[in-house]
Amino acid sequence: MRSPTISRPISLFLDVDGTLLDYASHPDAVWVGPTLVELLGDLHRASGGSLALVSGRSIDSLDRLFAPFRGVAVGLHGLEVRRDPQETSGRPLAEPVPEVLREAIGRIATAHSATLLEDKGAAIAVHHHLPAPAMQALRHALREACGRLAPRWVVMRGRRVLEVKPGDATKALGVDTLMAEAPFRGSMPIAFGDDVTDLDMFEAIRRHEGTSIAVGPRIAGSGDLQLDAPEESLALLREVRDALDDGADALRIGAVLRTRTHA
Ligand SMILES: [Mg+2]
Repeated sequence: MRSPTISRPISLFLDVDGTLLDYASHPDAVWVGPTLVELLGDLHRASGGSLALVSGRSIDSLDRLFAPFRGVAVGLHGLEVRRDPQETSGRPLAEPVPEVLREAIGRIATAHSATLLEDKGAAIAVHHHLPAPAMQALRHALREACGRLAPRWVVMRGRRVLEVKPGDATKALGVDTLMAEAPFRGSMPIAFGDDVTDLDMFEAIRRHEGTSIAVGPRIAGSGDLQLDAPEESLALLREVRDALDDGADALRIGAVLRTRTHA
């Protein structure tokens, strides 16, 4: 029988861009201060290693961003998972982008004035600054190419980005993979996310009887609790760290979450 909720340890699943960091015009243009790197290390330690970064970025990109911190990570929206922070990179959960699709995406991005093509190996992000009608045309062209060349592949919409990736890989897959194993197994997961790509993660968190926290306006109302901006995520996570250091159980952590958020 499962122990009562009160005695479950907590685990943390954190999206990065828009959740811990403000958005930048280019994914490499974000700046990470030493206090955030230190906070992630503290949370990893205080949670007994039950902290996972769950990002659209590759795990390599996360390591560069947060160096010297290296943690458990789900990269590329669930296309790669790293359970052991000592490992250099993630284990791929999918095949690389088919070459014909890669070439087609390059042509489409150029024709539709996309600003940047980010080749992540197992997925391709098409960054843009397009108004809605032009973005829809770009999305339509990408979808058409997937349907014709690689039907298992889908186009996901994020903030100023369209991402082409295998349809069966989501952040939920990453959460489920980690929750099946120590130290996450049996924990009460708490997830922070800001974008439509985090909704799969929130759904998985619900199945694992955890708490989801939406950050910012983009998916407002989709989480159990709400924060207004990344700086509020950091303030809340600092309180969670302090509570864990004081030996707080899931019930007290829950009270900390409710104090800092709104429904
Ligand atoms: Mg995000």
